[in-house]
Amino acid sequence: MDVDSTAEELASALGVDKPEVKADLEALVEFDVPLEEAAQSVRRKHGGSSGGSSTPETLDIGDITTTQGTVNVTARVLTQGTRTIRYQGDDQTIREGTLADSTGTISYTAWQDFGFEAGDSLVIGNAGVREWEGHPELNLGQSTTVSMADETLVVDQPVGGDSDLIDLSPGDRGRNIEVKIQDVESRTIDGRDGETTILSGVLADATARLPFTDWNPHPDIDEGASLRVEDVYIREYRGSPSVNLSEFSTVSPLSEPVSVTDSAPRLSIGEAVEAGGLFDLEVVGNVLEVRDGSGLIERCPECGRVIQNNQCRTHGEVEGEDDLRIKVIVDDGTASVTAIVGSDLTEHIYGGGIETALEAAREAMDKEVVADAIRESLVGAAYRVRGSLSVDEYGANLNVEEFEAASDDPAERATAVLSEVRQ
Ligand SMILES: [Zn+2]
Repeated sequence: MDVDSTAEELASALGVDKPEVKADLEALVEFDVPLEEAAQSVRRKHGGSSGGSSTPETLDIGDITTTQGTVNVTARVLTQGTRTIRYQGDDQTIREGTLADSTGTISYTAWQDFGFEAGDSLVIGNAGVREWEGHPELNLGQSTTVSMADETLVVDQPVGGDSDLIDLSPGDRGRNIEVKIQDVESRTIDGRDGETTILSGVLADATARLPFTDWNPHPDIDEGASLRVEDVYIREYRGSPSVNLSEFSTVSPLSEPVSVTDSAPRLSIGEAVEAGGLFDLEVVGNVLEVRDGSGLIERCPECGRVIQNNQCRTHGEVEGEDDLRIKVIVDDGTASVTAIVGSDLTEHIYGGGIETALEAAREAMDKEVVADAIRESLVGAAYRVRGSLSVDEYGANLNVEEFEAASDDPAERATAVLSEVRQ
């Protein structure tokens, strides 16, 4: 059901003009209110009954489809996360997570506090079914009843939300993690209530490293701290999961330090690009080309963008600042990426800093000599490259943190490159 057809149905059921009903619905939907819930509000406003249009069926979770209006289920609460949304100008606290029975799992949103927790077994009456990205979800609202089941429901899935970082996916809510904070910085952003300070950085456990954002800074979030963090939610950031803390997340220091992974997962470039981006990964491939815009470059002092002839696209005529970087195409036979190497690593690869590069350029009366020297040492050789991969309409870019000559078997790599050529 979309807003338009729901408005049409409501207008005829209530005997009200469709544009009026539609405007009401749109105002609610804009504030993240699910359409079914919005329709009930509009129905109440115009004196209609607030109940759903059909009698709920009692179903197993595995049998719930988006064609059902309302259902009754008996289920175990696997996870419960809390968050605030703005609804008709007021902040409203909602609870979200996953329910399970022996036939499957389903996401839920509770629009009021029914008093249940992760682990509880519930009998739920008259839950609304809505569609989210093609899957059914349950909506527990004013017309829903929730009571404790007589017996604990046995389910296959882990109960409670404790998770390793490697197992987190965008959309997960109400998760608990035990992590070490590897990096954190404080930033001021324009929030919906004016300027607000947030924390962002990187956290890790024995399975992975992920970026995080704390929207409501917790004082225990400090570089090097080992922490248990409860009730986090996961969003997608540049194709990778990112951990989000809210005012409802709790942070408690652990007495034992959390051991963290040193290595990034090794993937073929094809797999990594297919994944749509990853925060920390390692690939091994051959350098095919050192691209233009490598070597000695100039950046705008205002925005840091690479500029030419002292002209910034945003800031106009500026005094460029010299910098070093490399943009290099790395290919492993499955796909290629553009690896972007920052100034420190570039110095190391070039074998000299900005002063050395400027001197070489002056002597040759050509800046390109720096890029040419880099080309000579890199092109054709194999490297192990670690960093953060983003994939967008401009292609696959790997922001490099480590760049080393590969010690892998060269014969194996040659076979991989050849097999690509032969395809
Ligand atoms: Zn600029």
